[in-house]
Amino acid sequence: MTNLPRVLILAGTGLARRLAEVLVDQVQVITSLAGRTSQPLDLAGEVRVGGFGGMEGLSNYLRTHQIQAVIDATHPFAQQISRHGAIACQELNIPHLFLVRLPWLPKIGDQWLEVASMTAAAQASSQFERVLLTIGRQQLEPFAAIANTWYLVRAIEAPNLILPHSQIWLERPPYSLAQELELLTRFAIAAIVSKNSGGMETYAKIQAARQLKLPVIMVQPPALPPGHQVQTIPEAIAWLEQTFGLDLTPETTRTGPSRIDCTAQ
Ligand code: NAP
Repeated sequence: MTNLPRVLILAGTGLARRLAEVLVDQVQVITSLAGRTSQPLDLAGEVRVGGFGGMEGLSNYLRTHQIQAVIDATHPFAQQISRHGAIACQELNIPHLFLVRLPWLPKIGDQWLEVASMTAAAQASSQFERVLLTIGRQQLEPFAAIANTWYLVRAIEAPNLILPHSQIWLERPPYSLAQELELLTRFAIAAIVSKNSGGMETYAKIQAARQLKLPVIMVQPPALPPGHQVQTIPEAIAWLEQTFGLDLTPETTRTGPSRIDCTAQ
């Protein structure tokens, strides 16, 4: 095992968790979590938790832990860590890969108001009386300035900032379509604010909005830094194989469905 490459996964999504599961017996995998949730789901292999201490901290970590490859499987809106990872790897000449989730695309029946920032989302939400916020708990500030809208704030853990007219709803993905329909109906929600994060774990709210003919104020994801990108776990494994000249792929991962495809439903 000690001769196997040391691979750091920058985590934060279900895709990162599944990648760690697949790689755990094949490379020395270390998964890094920011530590935002107090009770993260179990992860296969070695896990480290907490920020690295900026760019310099991350570079030090990569050097001292002799990391030989980095796979960035963070959330599409986690801009800073992705930038740090890409730059640190470039400077240290460490192979680096983005395992990305493609953003959702609107389908027939979707009523999306696409916006570029959370401030623009807050402004757009002011035209509705009752709005479901599904943006996590860290970017609520722009909504505090909106006086005449009531917000249902759904998050995994309670936010520090409590909006003046709001209720907190603690829940952890994945959510089912039935769950989302029930929530939207129970609270008489008129619009949803969502990040366009892609993936299936939180896609049911988009389907529910379509079914109930509700608008979705959709915040577009930031651009990734330049770098090699793949979208599936088999592609990430193929990249590792090519990088290290190894055959890492067991039969099960060659056949297993791992592509995140939101057009499948
Ligand atoms: P961010 O703005 O890109 O990162 C802020 C700081 O958090 C980074 O500079 C780094 O601290 C630390 N950090 C972030 N991800 C880390 C990781 N995987 N391992 C170690 N440190 C990490 O990220 P964010 O938007 O706050 O998100 C934090 C984490 O939650 C990410 O891992 C992301 O995948 C996950 N997440 C984010 C969202 C979202 O909407 N943003 C949604 C779901 C999950 P140092 O500078 O000290 O190294």
